[in-house]
Formats: sequence, structure tokens, C-alpha cells
Amino acid sequence: TASFQRQRISVLGSTGSIGVNTLDVLSRHPDRYEVFALSAMSRVDELLAQCLHWQPRFAVMPDTAAAARLRERLREQGSRTEVLDGAPALCDIAAHPDVDMVMGAIVGAAGLAPCLAAARAGKRLLLANKEAIVVGGALFMQAVADGGATLLPIDSEHSAIFQCLPEDRSTWAQRIDHIVLTASGGPFRQRDPATLAAITPEQACAHPNWVMGRKISVDSATMMNKALEVIEARWLFGLDPAKIRVLIHPQSIVHSMVVCRDMSVLAQMGTPDMRVPIAYGLSFPARIDAGASRLELEKLSALSFEEADERRFPGLFLSWRALRAAEGTTTVLNAANEEAVDAFLNRRLRFDQIHRLNVQCLDELLPQAGECSSVEGLLSLDARVRRHAQALITSLAA
Ligand code: NAD
Ligand code: MG
Repeated sequence: TASFQRQRISVLGSTGSIGVNTLDVLSRHPDRYEVFALSAMSRVDELLAQCLHWQPRFAVMPDTAAAARLRERLREQGSRTEVLDGAPALCDIAAHPDVDMVMGAIVGAAGLAPCLAAARAGKRLLLANKEAIVVGGALFMQAVADGGATLLPIDSEHSAIFQCLPEDRSTWAQRIDHIVLTASGGPFRQRDPATLAAITPEQACAHPNWVMGRKISVDSATMMNKALEVIEARWLFGLDPAKIRVLIHPQSIVHSMVVCRDMSVLAQMGTPDMRVPIAYGLSFPARIDAGASRLELEKLSALSFEEADERRFPGLFLSWRALRAAEGTTTVLNAANEEAVDAFLNRRLRFDQIHRLNVQCLDELLPQAGECSSVEGLLSLDARVRRHAQALITSLAA
């Protein structure tokens, strides 16, 4: 029967924007996929509802108190889902022998360990959690290779590039002249750079084309999201940073492009809907219904492209700087930015100070030799940067 062959998936970060979109795609294909485990940070009510609907074998909450509440509520409802707590349990559901696929949809470096666990266990890893690959770098790619995992990009730009390339990776280096990552430019594409200091978290989170989690929304407004994506592309496609370009494309219809050696340009297009890259990650190399609507090309008046202005979006350019610096510098940049965004969302830092903090951390913190050769080393570097950033935030706020 069909159910015998169903693929079992653990969704890490199932209550988030990508997590909810993933469950939406899964709900369209009950004959193909089965939810093995769900996880969330703090939203007990949402995770409870998801568990009652999907009846997964496991539900994980890193926080013990939140997990205890979920366990109690599930018991009241007669659910058989087993609740695990603590961050290490995320690695357990990612690497469990009964799991086929893992959706990495946690936000931030917190997702690194479970994504690595999935990679080492040879799973099909659907990677939305770009911070994990930005922090993990070479170590992350080595874990994928060693574990025999299948790494599928979920970030729309990287899915677009992946869709424009043949399945055989060994041909990529020969074929690619460079790639072009497109960026919407976010809510402040045309805002006077002199007025950036007054931007509120609400304004920064109001993205013109996508509804996303708060952290990535702020990153889109600063274009640090694109900076992280440049670093992500470097690792996913094994490209020299000079071969990665960025263009602002406000319509978000062309999701990215590959410029081939012969100057033929391949682009992937569609309505901006994360369910499309998610569905491709799930079904690759086949294609399944994603629930997305048709791109009405006849209703589009124009597709436009422009260069990103360094004065308006200085954060974007930190990606190439970090990639050219010592190994581990991308980990420094990511940790600084996570702290800066969190402080901005909590009104402890102004919008324009996000970039200032990131630059200051890059200037003042140097990765030490050997720190990038293990997860423990990377996570201790990450922690060192966060302490430094916190001290800077406190002094800036004073
Ligand atoms: P979100 O904030 O909506 O969701 C994050 C999820 O991770 C939630 O389920 C939350 O409970 C969980 N989580 C948060 N911190 C955690 C921690 N410390 N430990 C364990 N779980 C934790 O974020 P999102 O917009 O869904 O983004 C998720 C990831 O996907 C990010 O890395 C983002 O950059 C990437 N991404 C998102 C989009 C999008 O459209 N939302 C597009 C491309 C890439
Ligand atoms: Mg993206």
C-alpha cells in the first residue's frame, strides 16, 4: 500500500513561518508524507494544536517548563505523542533511525546542532535555517558529505539556483560563470538613508512581498538577509565569493539566476510563495502540487533589476568581507547580527546601529586557529561574539 512507503519527516521549528508552510504542503500529500516529530521554542498552544492534528511520534520543546505544559495538555486530550525536552532532543529527532527527512526551520545558530545531526545521519535535509550553514561553513558541508546526506536548499534564491542546475553536482563548477541572487530590497528600498535611525520594529517587519518571522524580516530590511544568503550560496554551490552577485528586483518574481559559461542566463520564476521551494525540497527530483497560484505573466507590467546601493545597504557588503577574511569570520558576523536584531526588536538598539554593531564585532573579534574545526569550537566562538555584542549594546544604549 502507499502508506507503507510514506516518507517520515521531522519538522524543526514547526510553529514558525516556514514550519507552518511546510505542514500546509504536507497536508496536500497525506499519501506521500508522514509527520514523525514536531518542535517549537515557546508556543505551547500552537504546538499542541499541531500535535493533535498530525499525531507525531515525538514533540520537542527545548524549554523544560514549556515541555511540561505541553505534555500535560496532550495527556488531557488522550494523545499518544511523546514530549521530549532540552535542546539535545532536537538532535535526537533529527537523527532518529526512523526518520527519512528533516526540515530545518529553526531560526538562528540554535539550529546548527540538529541540522548537523541530520547531516551526519545521512538524512534528506531541507535547509531553510540559513544561519546554520553560515555558522557551520566547511564543517557543515563536510558533515553532509561524510553522512551521505542529501542537502536541499529551501531559501527561495538557493532553491532557484538549484532548480537551474543539473542534478550532477560534478558539472557545476565547469558550467557556472556566476550566479545572481535577487533581493526585493525590503521595505526601505527607497527610504532616505539619513532617516534610518527612526525606523521601528513594526515598520521593519512589514515586508512588501513576503510574510516571514521577525528576525528574517529585520534582516531583509537591512539586507543582512542577502548577506547571509551570499555566504549560504558560497557553501551550497561551492562558489568563489567573486562569482556571487546580488541585484535588487522589487517584484520578487525572478527568484535568482545562473549565468552559464556561455553567457546563457537561466532564471527560475514564480509567485512569491515559500511553499514552492518547500515542495521541491520534499519531492525532488519529482514535482508535486505546492498550493501556489499561477504566475500571471500577462498581468505583470515589468520586471526590473538594479544594483544595491552601498550607502543604503552597507550590511550586504559585509558578506564578501567576511568570506575573504579568516575562516570563522562569517560565524562572527552571524552572531553579532543575531544579537543586534534581537536588541533592535526589543528596542535596545536603533535600526542604524545594527550595522554599526556588526562592523564593530568584525573589527574587534578574530576567530582563533582551530575554532572552526569542531562544532564545540564554533559554538564557543559564537558565544564569545554574543557576550562582546551584549557589552557593546549596553554601552550604545547608555
Ligand atoms: P520564525 O521565527 O517564524 O520561526 C522559527 C521557528 O523556530 C519557530 O517554530 C520557533 O519556535 C523555533 N525556534 C526559535 N528559536 C529556537 C531555538 N532557540 N531552539 C529551537 N527552536 C527555536 O522564523 P521563519 O521565518 O520560519 O524562519 C526560519 C528559518 O528559515 C530562518 O533561518 C530563516 O532565515 C529561514 N527562511 C525563512 C523564510 C520565510 O519566508 N519565513 C524564507 C527563507 C528562509
Ligand atoms: Mg531568501
